[in-house]
Amino acid sequence: MVVVPKRPSKHLRPPRPLLASHASASDKADGRWMTQSMPSGSAVKSYRCPGCQQTIAAGTPHVVVWPYEPGWLSERAVDERRHWHTSCWARRR
Ligand SMILES: [Zn+2]
Repeated sequence: MVVVPKRPSKHLRPPRPLLASHASASDKADGRWMTQSMPSGSAVKSYRCPGCQQTIAAGTPHVVVWPYEPGWLSERAVDERRHWHTSCWARRR
């Protein structure tokens, strides 16, 4: 986790109110990402973690990650959300 300097930007506003709370920026080798932790109560589906290719079972607390800059992969960065194990995301560079 890298400390992000405080710099006002319109990009800090998430596209959907659902993700407005508790999202934070994270700088990795390939750019800046927004992350939000997903508590066990919110994890109602299982996902495949891109870090280890293992399943994140429903009910497992994990993190949701999406590109900081909309348009990097798609018009809507929120469409690029990926679900990661918390530990796998922490190990990613
Ligand atoms: Zn993983």
